[in-house]
Amino acid sequence: MELADLRELLGPDQPKYRAQQLFDALYKRHVANFSEISNLPQPLLNQLVTISTLNGPTSEKRFDSVDGTKRYLLRLEDNRTVETVLMPEEHRDTICISSQIGCPVDCKFCLTALMGLERNLTAGEIVGQVLFVARANGLNARDSRMNVVMMGMGEPLLNLENVLKATRILTDESGVGMSQKRITVSTSGIIPKMEELGRAEVRPKLAISLNASNEEQRRELMPITRKYHLADLMKACKAYPLRTWEKLTFEYVLLKDVNDTDADARRVVRLVSRLNCKVNLIALNPGPGIPFETPTAERVGSFQEIVRKAVPCFVRKPRGRDIFAACGQLKRVNEERVEE
Ligand code: SAH
Ligand code: SF4
Repeated sequence: MELADLRELLGPDQPKYRAQQLFDALYKRHVANFSEISNLPQPLLNQLVTISTLNGPTSEKRFDSVDGTKRYLLRLEDNRTVETVLMPEEHRDTICISSQIGCPVDCKFCLTALMGLERNLTAGEIVGQVLFVARANGLNARDSRMNVVMMGMGEPLLNLENVLKATRILTDESGVGMSQKRITVSTSGIIPKMEELGRAEVRPKLAISLNASNEEQRRELMPITRKYHLADLMKACKAYPLRTWEKLTFEYVLLKDVNDTDADARRVVRLVSRLNCKVNLIALNPGPGIPFETPTAERVGSFQEIVRKAVPCFVRKPRGRDIFAACGQLKRVNEERVEE
């Protein structure tokens, strides 16, 4: 809930500052129980218990990778679970959160796709993942080390209303206080929702999963391209209202002998070179039921060399592959497999 929602919850009889006290307790002090809010009068606390709940997610399981990555299986109020990943690095900590349980977009290289969509996450469940992981690891959300990427399970732009609300809560100065510059949302290219995102006053940075170098190839790998054509997606990127400090990010999963040739790299350059952007390459993280292979490091390097001549281009290190926490590997039915 945002401040306005809390005001509404408390009703017109309460003085206005009560909502702010409740807001502080939730998002600054991170209380786990209403009873811990000592500056609210007891009758109001009693009333709160009857009209609302304060159920953040709880940890069902945690998987620790040799590289320091932690994958959490978090249990929600309706007993469904969702995956959240923490990637600590020397100079920054990145929390990768989910926006949906499963995903309705049918990308052929992604394990989450095999689940289909179970449901959208609420704004509270999106914020709850960040607060849970921060608290469990002693991280301060205000710290400039802290980054949040909506690159876990789900297509965030198909749950845009809740994603935007969660972003407003996470970035509210009087609460959690994260910078908008430290939150990134990644999309498979839901064009009308990109336009809506661009109009939002408070919004995360935008990353686009490009993953193919031409229309036909993208249709094969990401069938959503039949609805939102690559050509139109690139037009939407060009029209996207970047803030002064912002660049678009393109993500590109490299699939051996499918989209990883030098000719592909040159086509990618033609697609993105006129945009204020950078490109992140990810060699495929393999998984059961994914009918593709990972290219060699040399192939990835040669692809990067070509793209780098036009725009900044980085290779993303795989993190937490051993615990099935890497990009595209989040899918709960693999739990048993992981523990073997
Ligand atoms: N649905 C959104 C965000 C979640 S997926 C999107 O598609 O952008 C986050 C990133 O993981 C995307 O860039 C996607 O292309 C990438 N990804 C999916 N499966 C992958 C895999 N098996 N290996 C590497 N990256 C993968
Ligand atoms: Fe959904 Fe993203 Fe996976 Fe595609 S890559 S199926 S959009 S989570």
